Amino acid sequence: MAILGIETTAHTASIGIVDEQARVLALVSDVYKPAAGGIHPREAANHHAEAFPALLERLAQEGKLHPSEIEGIAFSQGPGLGPCLRTGATVARVLSLAWKKPLIPVNHCVAHIEIARILSGMEDPILLYASGGNTQVVAFAHGRYRVLGETLDIGVGNFLDKLAIEMGGTFPGGPLIEKWALEGSRLLDLPYSVHGMDVSFSGLLTAAVAAHNSGVPRGDLAHSVQMTAFSMLCEVLERGLAHLGKSEVVLGGGVAANKVLRAMVEKMVAPRGVRAFAPPPSLCTDNGAMIAWTGLLALRNGITAEVEQSPVLPKERTDQVEVRWRLSPRWAPQKPIP
Ligand code: AMP
Ligand code: MG
Repeated sequence: MAILGIETTAHTASIGIVDEQARVLALVSDVYKPAAGGIHPREAANHHAEAFPALLERLAQEGKLHPSEIEGIAFSQGPGLGPCLRTGATVARVLSLAWKKPLIPVNHCVAHIEIARILSGMEDPILLYASGGNTQVVAFAHGRYRVLGETLDIGVGNFLDKLAIEMGGTFPGGPLIEKWALEGSRLLDLPYSVHGMDVSFSGLLTAAVAAHNSGVPRGDLAHSVQMTAFSMLCEVLERGLAHLGKSEVVLGGGVAANKVLRAMVEKMVAPRGVRAFAPPPSLCTDNGAMIAWTGLLALRNGITAEVEQSPVLPKERTDQVEVRWRLSPRWAPQKPIP
């Protein structure tokens, strides 16, 4: 038996099907790309509404859609953009009613941790969640996943996206900045903004745009921006590790696909004897498989929602979520899959 998971917190409309061994049986996604500027929530939601019939069709054509083998329908309940979340939730409710399967609400941030935890075989990692809209350090403490630190303004991915567009690129900007950085090596002095466990990127964005406008070569700028922003992330991650005494790190979010960030995290953790793991890019970025997997943990531990009582929660905090499968599990995966 498997769970079907639906993801629509922001840019990505995605469906994943995952079984009890955390095997990803299917994963199809369609990413909304704004014509110009940042994400427009209503336009993104319209994109998702149009994308889902085609995604379901693709699954059916690939021979991967077998309702009789699906045990439940999980969906991203929050946090995220209201119109986008509602579109995904509607699809999930329809499938739940049509196929008579339980509906399972899933917190998006928790899903990033759980997919990394099962793929790595780690017990109790600290998560650096670096995505478009979110940048957080999250860990399990006192019975819940807690946000130990986060961005005070924009997410690191949004920062990279905005800068890349100013530099003549298109969304998504993160991979472009990573590519351009290979052309440069000079390290510019840019604003480095860490406040305790929190970070901020708006000052760095202003300074980087100004540097671009004053003619700094794009390779040097991209290199400097990555080194500065990722050093900030490594600093708060290291502080989190030190305070909590944890010995495992996982990365999540689309920015975790970045090779420079991965290498910097490896370099930071190695002398501490800490292990680090990042899922493959398709499972780092927003995806339906992580929702399906977390939905399975939730369902097997008695967490479902009635269709009439399944509101989306755009501002849901990670620490509002009951993590029953870690506190007093009724069901746990047979063994971690390394
Ligand atoms: P997510 O919000 O988790 O779906 O991830 C999307 C974000 O990840 C966007 O802001 C992308 O620019 C960013 N991203 C994707 N690949 C990379 C990369 N290789 N380096 C840096 N950022 C990336
Ligand atoms: Mg995400």
